[in-house]
Amino acid sequence: MGTANPIVGAIEAGGTKFVCAVGSGPGRDMRARAQFATGDDPARLMREVIAWFEGEARTHGPLAAIGVASFGPVDLDPRSPTYGFITTTPKRGWRGTDVVGPLRRAFPGLPIGFDTDVNGAALGEGRWGAARGLDDFIYVTVGTGIGGGGVARGKLLHGLVHPEMGHFPMPVLDGDAFRGSCAIHGRCWEGLCAGPAIAARAGRPAEELAPDDPAWDYLTRYMGHALATLTYVLSPRRIIVGGSVRKAGQLGEAEFFARTRRHLRAVLNGYIASPALEEPGIDRFVVPPELGDDAGVCGAIALAHDALAAARGG
Ligand code: ZN
Repeated sequence: MGTANPIVGAIEAGGTKFVCAVGSGPGRDMRARAQFATGDDPARLMREVIAWFEGEARTHGPLAAIGVASFGPVDLDPRSPTYGFITTTPKRGWRGTDVVGPLRRAFPGLPIGFDTDVNGAALGEGRWGAARGLDDFIYVTVGTGIGGGGVARGKLLHGLVHPEMGHFPMPVLDGDAFRGSCAIHGRCWEGLCAGPAIAARAGRPAEELAPDDPAWDYLTRYMGHALATLTYVLSPRRIIVGGSVRKAGQLGEAEFFARTRRHLRAVLNGYIASPALEEPGIDRFVVPPELGDDAGVCGAIALAHDALAAARGG
């Protein structure tokens, strides 16, 4: 692994910024990186990104493949005329945007991997991070929104479209009058636990909330319910929780994870018999990403490597 892998291009396409990298893996194997504001002009942004890759390729040698881990929803069906597009996003300027097409035209013949940002992050954590050696695990990001990617038997979860783990319905905790902040569902997981939901509940940004603010208690209790649902439905061996909310402002990341694990155990109530869900196994069942905030861009590198392997018949 690592330096034995070829140099590829990587794009973590986020709703706020595109993080681009050239390299073969995380850390020292990432030779160059740059950020571009996503903005509302995709054609212009893709020209800037392509120009950056062309410049880096002159320095580091030609790219062997490109991987794109994108915000969504995206079209992942290779037989679809809109494969490689961001489809129904409410983000201004980006609805129906072809992301893969401009890369194909700029780098003819180069293998291009394309998947959701969270499937990419899952792949990256599986290869280099907190899920190394596991064939069945989930990566969720809890930030401005909530999304999840999963690996089952070593393969990314795809299907009708791709998982939308952030939007399943949630129970109402006793005494909770908050109606949720998801524009589509109100009280789905994202509507209760994403950053904007915390701020809407508390009436101010999460960073300003004291450690004893009830919003943290609601957050971690609802996280317990959500992770219990994922555990029941997909039977992962580990759940990695990335995204900005896990840092939990003045409450702190360690306390966020301790409370979330405790509430998860309370919701499961001993029903699934596994040491992974008991003390101390639970501490390794729900974990932060080892690649930290680089999980997404490293995932895009992993998508590029997989696209290259597929093109070579691997
Ligand atoms: Zn929703």
